[in-house]
Amino acid sequence: MNKKPVLVYGRLTDDQLAALSRDFELTRFSGTDLANDPAFHEALKDAHGLVGGASLSVTSELLNMAPKLEAIASISVGVDNYPIDELTRRGILLCNTPDVLTETTADTGFLLIMATARRAVELAEFIKRGDWKTSINEAQFGSDVHGKTLGMVGFGRIGAAIARRGALGFGMKILYSNASPKPELETELGAERRELDALLAEADFVCVTVPLTEDTEKLIGAREFSLMKPSAIFVNIARGKVVDEPALIAALKNGEIRAAGLDVFEQEPLPKDSPLPHMNNVVALPHIGSATTETRNAMAQRAVDNITLALKGQRPINLVNEDAWRNT
Ligand code: NAP
Repeated sequence: MNKKPVLVYGRLTDDQLAALSRDFELTRFSGTDLANDPAFHEALKDAHGLVGGASLSVTSELLNMAPKLEAIASISVGVDNYPIDELTRRGILLCNTPDVLTETTADTGFLLIMATARRAVELAEFIKRGDWKTSINEAQFGSDVHGKTLGMVGFGRIGAAIARRGALGFGMKILYSNASPKPELETELGAERRELDALLAEADFVCVTVPLTEDTEKLIGAREFSLMKPSAIFVNIARGKVVDEPALIAALKNGEIRAAGLDVFEQEPLPKDSPLPHMNNVVALPHIGSATTETRNAMAQRAVDNITLALKGQRPINLVNEDAWRNT
């Protein structure tokens, strides 16, 4: 029997590639501009499955080139680079990799909280420049993390995992603003639900973990920054477009907020002319939320499992568009 063609454009281990190729006919792509790669377009004609990460935006144009496509296994939990409704209409299953990256991404979120509060990157640079000549003084002081108020914008898997670190490890008071109430987390962490504006006004740290959707695009803009305390630290571990980036830059420059820890940006890779990585009160990371060897391998394995199940007609472990499955 002919094996179904599957296109792989994300990182899989050699063992994972070998396992997939036992069941499917694999073609691998590694270019940075796949959306405009004629070889990728040609391969889409016969593809039954795609396995890759957030680097490719799957557009209607690409889907039109892939009439046999049955399933996409994204190596990510975020699915903002896929037209979900259209995939459902076309009967294409979309799978993602929640849970396996939650703790690692929460570690990165907390890293940004700590690094911004204690000015770790700025002061490491201070030593490198040879500026450490006497005991440090007030000009280099940071602010405490323990005992402060952590405001989570989005209180799902990653939001809860960051809040757990804050509440249980650092004695922080947890506020959250989320689409639905989370009574279990209120009991577990003493978390209190707030309207977004009230949370922004009360929190010492504002940490964003909502998915990027039509509703959350530019959720945090000039008005929201103006509501925060001048001492507030803003952390974005979700998606860059949830924030109005020019408004963030202005708030950091004008002293409306004290600092920002950013793993994600409106445009990635970050354009060379962005002022953000050069600002002393910003810790900027190149979208490394889930980027550890263990977690990236686990995410890739989950994508392999999802595509294998989907293309064998079985329900994948993680299905984003349930309706596409119901209609199969
Ligand atoms: P999740 O469990 O689905 O949590 C998202 C939370 O946001 C949910 O609790 C949801 O509310 C809430 N929410 C959704 N829309 C909202 C809105 N309009 N207003 C208020 N709350 C809203 O997802 P997760 O696993 O924590 O991941 C969250 C996001 O993190 C992903 O979508 C991805 O974009 C990002 N991420 C980034 C990295 C990185 O490398 N930086 C890594 C992993 C994930 P309900 O509970 O009521 O549905």
